[in-house]
Amino acid sequence: MTDRPVRTRYAPSPTGNPHVGNIRSALFSWAFARSRGGQFILRIEDTDRLRFVEHSVEAIMESLRWLGIDWDEGPDVGGPFGPYFQSQRLEHYRAAAETLIERGRAYRCFCTPERLEQLRAAQAAAKRPPGYDGLCRGLNPAESARRAASEPHVVRFAMPREGTTVLQDVIRGEVVFENALQDDFVMLKSDGFPTYHLAVVVDDTAMRITHCIRGDEWISSAPKHIQLYEALGWERPAWAHLPLILGPDHKKLSKRSGDTALLDYRDRGYLPEAMVNFLALLGWALDDHTTILGVEELTRHFDLARVVPNPAVFDIERLNYLNGHYIRAMEDTRWEELVAEWADRGLPASIPRPLDRAVLRAAAPLLRERVTVLSEVADLIAFLFTDGTPPYDPALLAEKAGDAATAARVLEAAITALDGIAPADWQKEAVEAALRGLEGVLGLKLRKFIPALYVAVMGRPTGIPLFDSLVILGRERTLGRLRAAQALVG
Ligand code: GLU
Repeated sequence: MTDRPVRTRYAPSPTGNPHVGNIRSALFSWAFARSRGGQFILRIEDTDRLRFVEHSVEAIMESLRWLGIDWDEGPDVGGPFGPYFQSQRLEHYRAAAETLIERGRAYRCFCTPERLEQLRAAQAAAKRPPGYDGLCRGLNPAESARRAASEPHVVRFAMPREGTTVLQDVIRGEVVFENALQDDFVMLKSDGFPTYHLAVVVDDTAMRITHCIRGDEWISSAPKHIQLYEALGWERPAWAHLPLILGPDHKKLSKRSGDTALLDYRDRGYLPEAMVNFLALLGWALDDHTTILGVEELTRHFDLARVVPNPAVFDIERLNYLNGHYIRAMEDTRWEELVAEWADRGLPASIPRPLDRAVLRAAAPLLRERVTVLSEVADLIAFLFTDGTPPYDPALLAEKAGDAATAARVLEAAITALDGIAPADWQKEAVEAALRGLEGVLGLKLRKFIPALYVAVMGRPTGIPLFDSLVILGRERTLGRLRAAQALVG
């Protein structure tokens, strides 16, 4: 099975915006194909029409594109094994179901929803596991064919009732399933749509998928798929079930612990390279020490043999760290572009556009050290784009200085010192010297009195470096804000 040219796929169901865990499967599938010089296919598994969510397909493609994951075949680009929407491939599933019925490996089931409900209730009452009891399995084929013409029915797979089904998983090794515990699952629904199990097997075969790489939550489906391959006489792909992703509390990843839509991370100001790096290491490692790694290394070195079977832990702090790393590592020009973009997105509409490029450029290097996610940019530099006093609670001045009297003293001393700088000398060195000089005047350490100055100038007790900020803000605006603050504490 593995001497064929490698072809992997990502086969999402269009049930909304793909979440990070799901995209990790796409990334690993893609990276594996690329590392082997193989092909990567995008297939939309849209046979469950009740769960269909409008615009999911766009969101799926946008998520992949954002991370730089490209596909060789798919719903938009087509390809030799299309169509790539399962809803457009119904005849393939029907044909497979027919074949299996003819071979006696599948059967039509005419049981009504009411009967199945009663069966479930009886099983629950008897504390037995739920499952179909096989009533229609014994129907004679001629009678079954006759009833099929007029009666609604599904097609069920006739699971072997004895023995075991063995999965040789690339990551998990050998996993053995008892056939007696398997259900005669529905392959084809009464509306003619296949269930996931039939569709995935038919399409992975038709699309010549060599490696089926997917999340661990699908491992319980593997025996059904293996039996389908067996019954159809088709060559199986290799299976690789990726480790679960757990939250930091080591519980199943939930919305609260980080399992949100991938694009939410983009919209909160995470960089695609940080996300790729982060996802790549959720269950895989290049070696025992590399923590920073890019798409290039991933697609060159990715190997299923280095995926660990035990669960990976989703740690947002790790993602934050990586985002900060990539922010600091990028070229100046790209950083300036990002600052301009996020300032434009985040600053209030009351600030006239276009924003002053010179100010943005001057602020960009100051922001680099302070920003973890890009959505923080606007708040940190808003004070540079307004003329009046930034909005803040006057009580904050006293609180940050220790008390109101100290705040008044700090502001008075700062105004005197800064006012002493001639307009032509308003540069970082002079501003810094003036403010550091206050340590002696006030008998206070810089870190004690500087927060009150931050509040006066920026409206917040911390922010981008103050001395540089005052230079960008200019002498008059700086003094104006300090005087306004003085009036507020006075
Ligand atoms: N349609 C399934 C999903 O939504 C695909 C599972 C598989 O990769 O086989 O994840």
